[in-house]
Amino acid sequence: MRTIFGILLAILVASSALLAQEENGKNKVENRYQDTKESKSENKSTPKGTDKKSITVRWCGQSYFQLKSAEGDLIVFDPHSMPEFGRQIVKGDMVCISHLHDDHSQYEVLENAASLEKELSKRVFFGLDPKTKGKKFNAIDAKYRSISIRTVPSYHDAEEGMKRGKNAIFVLEIDGLKVVHLGDLGHDLDDSAVKAIGPVDILFIPIGGIYTINGDTAKEILKKLKPKRYIFPMHYGIPSVMEDLQTADEFLDGQKNIKKIKANEFRIAIDEKVENPTIVMMGWQPDEGSTDKDK
Ligand SMILES: [Zn+2]
Repeated sequence: MRTIFGILLAILVASSALLAQEENGKNKVENRYQDTKESKSENKSTPKGTDKKSITVRWCGQSYFQLKSAEGDLIVFDPHSMPEFGRQIVKGDMVCISHLHDDHSQYEVLENAASLEKELSKRVFFGLDPKTKGKKFNAIDAKYRSISIRTVPSYHDAEEGMKRGKNAIFVLEIDGLKVVHLGDLGHDLDDSAVKAIGPVDILFIPIGGIYTINGDTAKEILKKLKPKRYIFPMHYGIPSVMEDLQTADEFLDGQKNIKKIKANEFRIAIDEKVENPTIVMMGWQPDEGSTDKDK
């Protein structure tokens, strides 16, 4: 009797184990399917948590940003390999370079640099002409897939480039939003520049002074450009990370709607309704990488 019971028990255990194995197998297949589906758009160097209706902004230090469009295109601004910011290596389907200084122009550090190199003229947009070592502006009016790209000329100092040369302002349209990156802008903007830039939804603006405009001039520029949704300050001093620029204090003084987040990544829903623009201050965590949870 005991043996029959034992056998029955053994059969029961074995069959439930078999069932569990099958279940596991099914999960594995499903997981694998999800993995492959995700791996097309997800990559360890691309932002997490994106969906079809948002643009994800990732800050890689100084003026270096990676944006992921709703369609999954990766746009990089002013890449560099500064050790202070942990030499962030990300991927870029297209790259915008405001001027040729080392801390803004190193597309060679991107994960897919070799493939960019093969299509340099179609995918890497130099605001200043490298053939003239940046002495001439490149008037860009181009498209990369659905993204439109144009440049507005400006200078790296308040003396028409006599001290630090020229600088290109990039004006992009991504998923219907006007995205403007001011590069190393070194002066206030006059009416003609403001007009040339046009409407702005998302603005990347230097605020750290010394080599670019300082916080007070940046505030004047905000009044003129009137960005509708988000302002991302860049190129400023951060204690114990980047100490030779002014901190964000001057720029933030007297400002409303400041959002401080710990992460270096921020997601913008394309169809959200925004009443007043928000200044987004991202934290700097070179080792932790990106998370969305602090938003
Ligand atoms: Zn510069």
